Amino acid sequence: MCGIVGYVGDRPAQDVLISGLKRLEYRGYDSAGIATLDDDSEPHLARSVGKIAELEKVLSIKPHDGKLGIGHTRWATHGGVTVKNAHPHNVGDVFLVHNGIIENFRELKAALKDVDFKSDTDSEVLA
Ligand code: GLU
Repeated sequence: MCGIVGYVGDRPAQDVLISGLKRLEYRGYDSAGIATLDDDSEPHLARSVGKIAELEKVLSIKPHDGKLGIGHTRWATHGGVTVKNAHPHNVGDVFLVHNGIIENFRELKAALKDVDFKSDTDSEVLA
């Protein structure tokens, strides 16, 4: 079971999202990630395979500013356990996290001929 957390407020989103993801660890997961929007409305993405501690290492190298974001712990159903398959996913400025399975993702992907998909997940078709 994956977990999803979102935040908008006055605090640093990165800290709130990491704290929330740690609270969801008991549900089980194989990878994790966050996407945030900084005060200049620029999106930032960080993802890792393994424990939240690995994601924290990524963020320690390149911390996220901003007070708005989404976070995800993934339990892979479609696509291997890799950074490119970890959520959040984005197409342009649309970032998303998803819990579950999109049964007709192959048909949707085939219909979206112009989209350059970056992952092997079912979830990316939503973006
Ligand atoms: N089906 C999605 C994936 O494989 C979401 C899995 C989940 O619920 O964590 O990325």
